[in-house]
Order: sequence, then C-alpha cells, then structure tokens
Amino acid sequence: MIVSEKIVHLAEEAERALAEHFARIDRVSFENTQRVMDSFREHRVCDAMFQSGSGYGYDDRGRDVLDEIWADVMGAEAALVRHSIVSGTHALTIGLFGILRPGDVMYSVAGKPYDTLEEVIGLTGNAGDGSLRDFGVDYAQTDLNEDGSFRFDEIGDKLRTMGKKIKMVFVQRSKGYLNRKTLSVAEIGELVKFVRSISPEVFVVVDNCYGEFVETVEPCAVGADLVIGSLIKNPGGGMAESGGYLAGTKRAVELASYRLTSVGIGAEVGASLGQNKLMYKGLFYAPHTTAQALKTAHLAAYIFEKLGYCVEPHWNEERHDIIQTVITGSAELLCAFCRGIQEGSPVDAFVTPEPWAMPGYSDQVIMAAGAFTQGSSIELSADGPLRPPYTAFFQGGLTYESGRIGIMAAAQRMIDV
Ligand SMILES: *Cc1c(COP(=O)(O)O)cnc(C)c1O
Repeated sequence: MIVSEKIVHLAEEAERALAEHFARIDRVSFENTQRVMDSFREHRVCDAMFQSGSGYGYDDRGRDVLDEIWADVMGAEAALVRHSIVSGTHALTIGLFGILRPGDVMYSVAGKPYDTLEEVIGLTGNAGDGSLRDFGVDYAQTDLNEDGSFRFDEIGDKLRTMGKKIKMVFVQRSKGYLNRKTLSVAEIGELVKFVRSISPEVFVVVDNCYGEFVETVEPCAVGADLVIGSLIKNPGGGMAESGGYLAGTKRAVELASYRLTSVGIGAEVGASLGQNKLMYKGLFYAPHTTAQALKTAHLAAYIFEKLGYCVEPHWNEERHDIIQTVITGSAELLCAFCRGIQEGSPVDAFVTPEPWAMPGYSDQVIMAAGAFTQGSSIELSADGPLRPPYTAFFQGGLTYESGRIGIMAAAQRMIDV
C-alpha cells in the first residue's frame, strides 16, 4: 500500500499529541484486566472448564462459571453469556421479550434505539411478524438534549403520568448510527438514580454495545437492571467466534434466561460445543483489545480533523465507546473511506466494498470489514448509511499497529478522491 509522506507525518504528529491519552487508556486497560484476572482466580478457572459440552449441556461447569465471572466483571448479580446468541440484536431481543408483557410500555430515554431494533419493537416492519407491538407492548421515546444530556424534566413527567405502565426504561449507551454523543457510565448512573426516585420498580435496561471496558465501571455497577451486548464487539476480545451476553440483577437475568431457552429451564441448559475456551480467552483479552481500538479511534480523529473533516469525538476528548465518526459529506468520500479501511485489513484486503440494502436497516449501507470473524466489529471495520451527512462510523482494530495501517489507508483514499 502506498501512503503519501503527508499521511506518514500526520500519523507521527498524532502520536506525539496523543501520548497522554494513550497512557490513560493503558491505565484503564490495566485496571480492567486486573478485575478480570481477580475473578478468574477467585473462580479457580482451570483447563477442565474448557471442555466441550454436547446435548442438553447439563452441569457444564465452564459455562456456569463463565456466567459468574461475567457477573463479577460487569458489577452485576448474575449474567448469561452464550455463543448461541447470534448477535447483539438477538441479545437485546431476549432482554426485551424477557421483561416486557402485554400492556407494558418500553420507554427509550436516549432517543431512537439502534436501527435493527425498529422491527423488534414494531416501529417498522409487518404487523403480525411478532414484534413487541404485536404482543401489545407499547413504545414511548424521549430524545436527548441538543448537548447529548438526558431531558430529566420530560422523563420525570412521563414516569409520573404513565405510572406503572412503564415497565422498562431503555438506554442506548453508544451513539449507534446517530450523530450524537455517547453516554458515560456516570451519566447513566445519574439517570438510574433519577428514575428510581420516581418509579422504583421499573427495569432500567442498557444497550451496552461498544461500551464495554472503555471505562473502569459498567452500567450494572451504577444500578442498571440489565446490560446487554455482543461478543463480536468489545467483550469478546476478538477471540469469541460468536455470541452475546446479558448481565444484571438476578431477576432480570432469570427472565432473560426464560426467553433464551424455556420458562422454567432458563440458563441450566445449552451445550457449549467447544466454545468456552474462546469466550474465556476473549474476556481475558477484552480490556487490552478495547484499548487497541480506542487508540486507533484517537489516531483517526486526529488525522481526519487535521484533514478538515468534522469528527466525533474530537481527538483529545475522553471516550465512552470505541466508535469514531467522520462526517465525509458525500457518498463518494464515504465509499473512499470504507475502501481504504478494507485495504488496510488483514483479511479480504483485495475486495472493494459496495453499498447494499442490508436486512434490518432502512437505508443502503456500505461496510468495510476484513475480519477473521465475520462481521466482527472489534476488528477494524467501518460502515455508514448512505444518507446525508454521509457519516462514516468506524471502530475496532485488534492491534493498534494494524489499526494505524487501516486509518492511514483510509485517509489516503479520501485524499485521492
Ligand atoms: C451493534 C449494535 C447493536 C446490534 O448488534 P448486532 O450484533 O449488529 O445485531 C445494537 N446496538 C448498538 C448500539 C450497536 O452498536
């Protein structure tokens, strides 16, 4: 790959400017690694836990202990971690259907949830397909303020006027495909306190995708009832081959487990099929891998900001997830960006990404992913819906070195347009 002198110098300049941020990221990674390793030691993780289970999967010690470790690491009472959860959307669906009943209201307080949840909730899609709406669950929403903070007044009014109908307050931590700020764990903690002061019974559920291990605490530790994410993002550490997790209070996790398998059976079955070791190894790596992705994001923010693009977060801002957005301003530049990322990937570097109508998304999407695990976005990957302002969302980088290569390639491709 040929990258101009300009980009090489820009990357070097960025690293000098980012030294303090990188040091802080390393400290967070150290603290999170310590928390993971303390839990491994306390739970006496050993080789026998990596054995493959089949059939019903009764008494799979590796699976059960991994759930306990996840609960610890997340600051939760209980957790469910399964390779058989096919995606983040699936994990979220399990949590939503596990808790909500006919007549209940799901109340999203951080604006519109992630695109793929629209059909799950019943905001789009066909009546009769089995969305929450089909089952008589209503949906209410409050957007964030212009500055990205919660609208506490409106949230308070809704909770008071709708009362017990609101069974769940739903918060998406990360920006997803929206041009907004990502919420910090501290902000989510404030929200939980506020919600509890009005409606102590409500379940606070957090879509934690892309937020894991970016800070030293997770939303469960500040009172969320259920926190949900994907193992092919941060917490799988680039090792887990598939899967998702739900962590939270005993009751919330139990309800989710009844939806995952069957009422009454819950988390006690489910063959591990040889996936335990990769999930353990993934959790072990996750704080470090997340740090690699964060450094890559900072680097990109610096480079693209210097090239004149609007980026979020800014290069010198502290982050609450691993996503970096670059507003490219045109379909052509968005595609160039994604093509550069693809070229700078370890797998499929020779292919050219094209926009397509992806199932579950309402606009055409272009994606770049040269990943060892299909669709893994803790690996360097980029995507963007083809709608103004043509924002590229990118994330990941299993190693900072490879992330740096991908970012330099993307910058070069955009200069070449
Ligand atoms: C990725 C993501 C999801 C959905 O995860 P998939 O694995 O793509 O189904 C949901 N919410 C947010 C914020 C995400 O980033």
